[in-house]
Amino acid sequence: MKAAQLRATNDFAVVQIPMPSRRDGEVLIKVLSCGICGTDRHIVKGEFPSDPPYVLGHEFGGVITEVGPDSNFKVGNKVTVDPNIYCGKCAYCRDGKVSFCSNLSAHGVHRDGGLAEYAAVPESQVYVLSESVPDNHLAFVEPIGCCLRGIDLANIQVGQSVAILGGGLIGLLMVQLAKLSGATTIILSTRQESRRNLARKLGATHTVDPKNRSLVESVVGAKGIFPLGVDVVLECAGTVETFEDSLEIAKRGGTIIVFGVTPSGVSAKVEPFNIMSRELKIQGSWINPFTHGRAADLLSSGVLQLDPLISKVLSLDGVPAIFENPPIQGDIKYVVHP
Ligand code: NAP
Repeated sequence: MKAAQLRATNDFAVVQIPMPSRRDGEVLIKVLSCGICGTDRHIVKGEFPSDPPYVLGHEFGGVITEVGPDSNFKVGNKVTVDPNIYCGKCAYCRDGKVSFCSNLSAHGVHRDGGLAEYAAVPESQVYVLSESVPDNHLAFVEPIGCCLRGIDLANIQVGQSVAILGGGLIGLLMVQLAKLSGATTIILSTRQESRRNLARKLGATHTVDPKNRSLVESVVGAKGIFPLGVDVVLECAGTVETFEDSLEIAKRGGTIIVFGVTPSGVSAKVEPFNIMSRELKIQGSWINPFTHGRAADLLSSGVLQLDPLISKVLSLDGVPAIFENPPIQGDIKYVVHP
């Protein structure tokens, strides 16, 4: 079969490899779509730990073509795959904190993923979706599951104010999820105008161009949108600047969710007095523990607007060019049909 394989750091190619053989407890899936995300770029460049050679792609789903005896699934089920496999045996897993699993192994990061015609996947990772879910949307379940972790930790109350920093795929999903959670003021800060326009269509009540006027001034300044600050900040840009701004625009007693990935080893300026005297809650959010099934149900419900987030649909042959070139300004999500 055809697959997009990482052979070594910076050595990525579309190749022919043998069809995966289904082992006990696994199902075989014909992949209908697989997303490409920023982490994939980091993996290819060797900036994220991985173990090549293997097939890339951790945001995928498809249709089951083969099951084992006594399987919980049926041939023909439309399914999504939670790529993160936890060992269940380490101290964190036994404590219910599976996302910190000491032996975490993820499809598309440590083992074969979804940028291939077929994938063999343990049943524990598989969730059935409504038949009505468009194939392109299968690529969104994993990122939505990660966003749900951040939304759960933010504990947004009906009527609260939320600021989302960064209008990439994650920020634009967060706008929709914050609205579903009951936030009535939703501010999105991002530099590209097309993204600010889209955010308004998706539910943002205010948008900020941080190039034009500083985010802090726009939100909490004398003429700011919310001079006291917002209840919740979702940092989804992954920059030092946006992290530092998060602490300034949160209301007293507010919550800051650190969702964006800043490079490991990079530091930011923090004033402990600010955190203490304003009782700020700073909370990290890491991957998708126990949220993939809910993300699948949310997708099946059809309440999320995902089509406006798709910039390009391509075949496997188009994937190498994505990694060989820098991200294209304005593009949000690439979906591959293997
Ligand atoms: P992305 O496409 O890179 O989006 C981030 C966007 O932030 C950029 O495209 C940029 O858009 C905007 N930005 C950059 N500097 C900014 C600034 N100073 N002020 C406001 N906006 C700024 O990435 P994504 O896919 O949406 O993901 C967002 C972050 O979440 C990434 O860091 C990703 O690695 C991380 N992530 C975390 C998890 C987790 O489990 N914690 C899971 C998935 C992804 P403009 O050009 O419009 O400003």
